[in-house]
Amino acid sequence: MFNFSSIDDYHADLKTGKTTCMQAVQHCLFSIENSKHLNSFLEVFAEEASAKAAELDKQPIKGKLHGVIMGIKDNICYKGHEVSASSKILQGFTSVYSATAVERLLKEGAIIIGRQNCDEFGMGSTNENSAFEPVLNPNNTDHVPGGSSGGSAAAVKAGLCMAALGTDTGGSVRLPADFCGVVGLKPTYGRVSRHGLIAYGSSFDQIGVLAYTVSDAARILDVISGPDEFDSTAISQINSFTDLRSSTDKRYRIAYFPDWVEHNSIDPEISVQIKTLLQNLKHDGHEVEPVDFNLTEYIVPTYYILTTAEASSNLSRYDGVRYGRASTEKKDLTSFYQANRAQGFGKEVKRRIMLGTFVLSAGYFDAYFTKAQQVRQLLHQQTQLVFKNFDFIVAPNSPSVAPKLGEKNKDPLAMYMGDIFTVFANLTGIPAISLPVFKHSSNLPFGLQVASAEQNELSLLRFSHQLMQQ
Ligand code: GLN
Repeated sequence: MFNFSSIDDYHADLKTGKTTCMQAVQHCLFSIENSKHLNSFLEVFAEEASAKAAELDKQPIKGKLHGVIMGIKDNICYKGHEVSASSKILQGFTSVYSATAVERLLKEGAIIIGRQNCDEFGMGSTNENSAFEPVLNPNNTDHVPGGSSGGSAAAVKAGLCMAALGTDTGGSVRLPADFCGVVGLKPTYGRVSRHGLIAYGSSFDQIGVLAYTVSDAARILDVISGPDEFDSTAISQINSFTDLRSSTDKRYRIAYFPDWVEHNSIDPEISVQIKTLLQNLKHDGHEVEPVDFNLTEYIVPTYYILTTAEASSNLSRYDGVRYGRASTEKKDLTSFYQANRAQGFGKEVKRRIMLGTFVLSAGYFDAYFTKAQQVRQLLHQQTQLVFKNFDFIVAPNSPSVAPKLGEKNKDPLAMYMGDIFTVFANLTGIPAISLPVFKHSSNLPFGLQVASAEQNELSLLRFSHQLMQQ
């Protein structure tokens, strides 16, 4: 019986012949088949994955991800494979090139087993905005897995793949990691090239990793990060993230925002468990201090003004001519475009395009868009000040555990407010991780969010590794 616990252990078993890549692929394919009800995969590349496993089994372990079975969120391009961003407008579209991150995975021997369901164009927090039906939470199928990388988090949790690439524009890796109970890493903005990632909010979008362990996430980040001639915003520095050893007597300076931990929207159990953890860190000798953060109420509005503005521009290319399904209604060009977009986009995507177009319109540009840019700048400055005195910010990921299907998606505003603790890292560009450390009385897991200063992923991963081992 195949059993996956970490890439290191898997590689050790491959070396001793205890298992093979083929056995691992067969196991995942079998589990995917048995977990169809979760709806986490939109497509499974069964034959291709088996062929690659057979090929890898003939070779010694060379690549850092030799035989590692991964899923990719359906907004990341993989040459020759369909990519739809879980939208009808792109249904049937085949990638003409692979994302840089995907190229790098393949080069290190990863096996991509399929593309995973998500909220349409990454817009959502519960995965209920997919045009291809929601994903279910493997911990309790009455509940959502979180979004927008819900298929990826659910698949990792259910053991359908060993790790997955998701994307995080405003929490879409960390939130589903929190709701499903896996590790979810959002790197610094620009750490991973966005080339081949279907754009939502370009100044926020970042590819991230869903994995079982912090060291697996670190290893995958190591592979996919680095400069890229196809993305001018990719960070030029080459870093290594795999050495997670740190001396056990290392003491960190940890900040938390009482405004968040005591927020009026937070589930009291989440608040209590985070406060207890903070106390334990203090007992362990770390410096743990409350920090006043007076911009909390501006976080969600700023995020939704800026991302909808960027989305309205990014999504203008889907007109049924250059991309996407074309309608049969061909009276004149305008009605042709209108029909393509009206039929192709889902409700939430349309809402955001309209909101974004509104905040960019001549009469409101300064009042909304410019203002939000200024607030983003302020948030950035305040965050840098915090990291002058502290190594990490510890926070919740979400005010609640995974809601039931249908419980939250009737009220878009309430849904947006649920992003309060995650979008901060995207507004400021800092890396953040969700660690699966808590359990709620409802039996659902929830995570701890840890963030560090920009480009400080190595310390973030070391500290996270330490926390998980405790
Ligand atoms: N809930 C956020 C939104 O809907 C998540 C976005 C994301 O990270 N892709 O915008």
